[in-house]
Amino acid sequence: MVTTHNLGFPRIGAKRELKFALENYWKGQSSRDELKALGAQLRERHWADQRDLDLAPIGDFSFYDQVLDMSFTLGNLPKRVQGFHGDTLDNYFRVARGRSTQSAEDHAACCGGVAAGEMTKWFDTNYHYIVPEFHADTNFSLDPSRLLQQLAQAQTQGVNAKPVIVGPVTYLWLGKAKDDSDRLALLPKLLPVYGALLDTLTAQGVEWVQIDEPILVTELDAEWRQAFRTAYAALETRRIKLLLATYFGQLQDNLTLACSLPVDGLHIDAINARDEIGALIRELPVNRVLSVGAINGRNIWKTDLGATLDWLEPLARQLGERLWIAPSCSLLHVPVDLSSEQKLDPEIRSWLAFALQKLDELKVLACALNHGRASVADALAADAAAIDSRRASPRVHNPVVKAAVERITAALGQRQSPYDVRAPKQAARLKLPAFPTTTIGSFPQTADIRHARSQFKAGELNEAGYQAAMHAEIARSVREQETLNLDVLVHGEAERNDMVEYFGEQLDGYAFSQFGWVQSYGSRCVKPPILFGDISRPKAMTVEWIRYAQSLTDKPMKGMLTGPVTILNWSFVRDDQPRSVSCHQLALAIRDEVLDLEQAGIRVIQIDEAALREGLPLRRSQWNAYLDWAVESFRITANGVRDETQIHTHMCYSEFNDIIASIAGMDADVITIETSRSDMELLDAFDSFKYPNEIGPGVYDIHSPNIPSEAHIVELMKKAAERIPAERLWVNPDCGLKTRQWAEVLPALTNMVAAAKTLRSQVL
Ligand code: GLN
Ligand code: ZN
Repeated sequence: MVTTHNLGFPRIGAKRELKFALENYWKGQSSRDELKALGAQLRERHWADQRDLDLAPIGDFSFYDQVLDMSFTLGNLPKRVQGFHGDTLDNYFRVARGRSTQSAEDHAACCGGVAAGEMTKWFDTNYHYIVPEFHADTNFSLDPSRLLQQLAQAQTQGVNAKPVIVGPVTYLWLGKAKDDSDRLALLPKLLPVYGALLDTLTAQGVEWVQIDEPILVTELDAEWRQAFRTAYAALETRRIKLLLATYFGQLQDNLTLACSLPVDGLHIDAINARDEIGALIRELPVNRVLSVGAINGRNIWKTDLGATLDWLEPLARQLGERLWIAPSCSLLHVPVDLSSEQKLDPEIRSWLAFALQKLDELKVLACALNHGRASVADALAADAAAIDSRRASPRVHNPVVKAAVERITAALGQRQSPYDVRAPKQAARLKLPAFPTTTIGSFPQTADIRHARSQFKAGELNEAGYQAAMHAEIARSVREQETLNLDVLVHGEAERNDMVEYFGEQLDGYAFSQFGWVQSYGSRCVKPPILFGDISRPKAMTVEWIRYAQSLTDKPMKGMLTGPVTILNWSFVRDDQPRSVSCHQLALAIRDEVLDLEQAGIRVIQIDEAALREGLPLRRSQWNAYLDWAVESFRITANGVRDETQIHTHMCYSEFNDIIASIAGMDADVITIETSRSDMELLDAFDSFKYPNEIGPGVYDIHSPNIPSEAHIVELMKKAAERIPAERLWVNPDCGLKTRQWAEVLPALTNMVAAAKTLRSQVL
C-alpha cells in the first residue's frame, strides 16, 4: 500500500481569513485571543480537508512565516527584541514587521521601536521569509510551545500528525551572519536544540517528522555538504523517524549525499526531478521510504493522472510499502479551493486544480495504485477528458501568435543606434536638468480610488463615471508633481489594481480567478493571473490614460508598462510550453503597446522588470540560459522605438553584482533601482562593472513611513556619484508610492527635489 501525505497546506484561508484577522489585530481592532482562536479554527478546517491523507502536516500553520517560527522555536531572536516584556506573539510580530503592535505599544517605554527583520524570497517562489540573524555568539534554546500546541490540537482531532520543521543546515543557510562570522560555525550549538526538539516530539507520540532541506537542490560547496553529514549523524540516534524533504529542483550532484544521510525517508520533487528516480532507487538504502512529489505544488493545472500512473505504477510494484506520494512541495504556493470560483470560464476552470483539488488527485492516484485503475475509473476518465480538452482547445492555440514568435530575429531587439548616439538626441528633446528627478510610477492608492474601482467592478459605477474618477486622480497627481517641481512626471497608476493583473486582464490568453490568493508575505497575498493560452493584445492598454496625463502638462510624462519577464514571473504559467516561449509572446504584445505610446507622442517610456531577478534558476549553471531569453524578451519589448524616445526600466531588488552584465545588456537608457535601504552598498556592483547608461539609485525607502531628509538624500547621492559619473545619475525613490499616504509622499518628495537642487550646485 502506498502512503499519502502532504508537505504543507496554505494557511491564509480560502477567504483570506488569516489576512483579515491579522490586520484587525495589528490595528488594535481585535484581541490576541480572537486572533489565536481564528488560527485554531483554520488549522482545524485544514486538517479536516486533509483527513483522507495518511499523514497530515502540522507546524505548517504560521501567523506570519514558517522560517520566523523556526527562529522562535530555536530561541534565535534578534538581540533587539530580546528582553521584551509582552506576549511572545507580539514580540514575534515586532520581528516580522518592525513596528509595535497595539498591545506591544504599552511596552514601548522599556523596549522602544525595533527594526523589522530582513525579508527575502523563499527560493524561486514569490513567498518571502524573514531572514534569521546570526552572530558569532548566537546561542540557541528550545521553545517547542508552538509545535506542541499545534500537535495537541491535531491529536485531539484524530489527525495522524507529521510535524514539519526547517532542517538545521537549510536554517543556517537561509540566515545571515550580521557580524560576518561563519554561520556554519554555529552548527555544533544548533544541533543539540534540534535533538531536544525531536526528543520532545517523540515524547508526544510523534512517529514521523518532515525535516525540510530544500538547499539540497542548489549548488553546495564542500563545507555545506559536510554540514549535512555532521548534522544528520548527530540526529541519527533519535528514536523518531525523519523524512528529509527536498523540493523545487533536482538533487544532481547532491543526490549521493542525500541518499547517504542516515534518515528514514527522502522526499523529492518528481515534477522537476523525475529523471532522478532511477538513480535514487539504486542509491537509497533498501529500508528507506522514497516519497515522490507527483503533483505540481507550484501551479494550478490539473495533473495528467493517466500519464502519472504510467510511471508511478512500476515504481509502486518495485518499492511496495516504501513508496509514498505527495504534492511536489508545500501547497503554500497555490490557492486553496477551485470550487469558490464561480465566475471563471467553465472550460478553463475544467483544466484547473487548486490545493484541495490537488489533494483529491493524490487520493485518486493512491486508489489506483492500491486497488487498480478500475477502482477510480470515473475520476480518471474525467481527468483525461479535461487534459484532452486543454491540449486541443483553440483558445489555447493561436497560430498567428505562434508564427510571430517563430519570426523573431535578433534585429527585433536592437535599438537604431547605440546609447552614445541616442543620449544627446534625447537630451535635446527632453531638456532635463542635471540630476533629473522622477518617481517610479504609482502614487497613493487612496480609499477613493479603491472605492471607485470596486463600484465599477460591481456595476454600480458606469464606464464614464469610472473614467471621470480616474481622470480626477491623474489630474491631482500631475498637479502635485508640478507643484513639487519634479522633472519627469508619471500619471500615478490610479487605474491599476496591480501591475501584472492590469495587463493580464487586457491580454488574450489570460484568465483571472476571484479567490486565487497566494500568500506573498505575512498578511499580504497576491492573486497571480493564469496564463493559459497564446498571448495577444486586442487593443491598446494604457495609451488613453497616458495621453490624458500628458495633455495636462508640458513636462515629459512617462508611459508606464510592466515588462514581459515580470508579467511571466508573477503569473501562473503554462506547463505545455517552455517559459521562454510564453515570455516571447508577452514581449511581442507589450512591444506593440510601446510603439503605440511612442506614436501618441510620449517621449519617455518605463518598462518595469521588478521580477526579473527572481526568475533566476536555483542553480547558477542554469542562469545564463534564463538571462538570455529574459533579456532578449525585454529588448524585443523596448527597443523598437526611435533614438529620441527614452526607455526606462525599474527593478526593485538589492542584489545586482552577479547579473549586472545582463542588466546592461537590456540597453535601457535609464534604470532605476532599489538602494536606499542598503545605504548605496548595492552600487558596489558598479565598481567593477562600468554600467554604460543612466542610473537612478533609489534614495528614499518607500516601504517605510519615514520622511527622508534633504541632507540624507544628498549624502546618498554623493556616494553614488563616487561610482557613477554625475551626469548619468537620476534622483528618485526606491519604488512606486502606491502603499504610502499623500501626507507622507509630499514632504518626502519635497526633500528629494530640494536635494537634487543642492546636488546641481554642489556636485557639478
Ligand atoms: N511602476 C510600478 C509602481 O510604481 C512599479 C512597482 C514595482 O516595481 N514593484 O508601483
Ligand atoms: Zn519597484
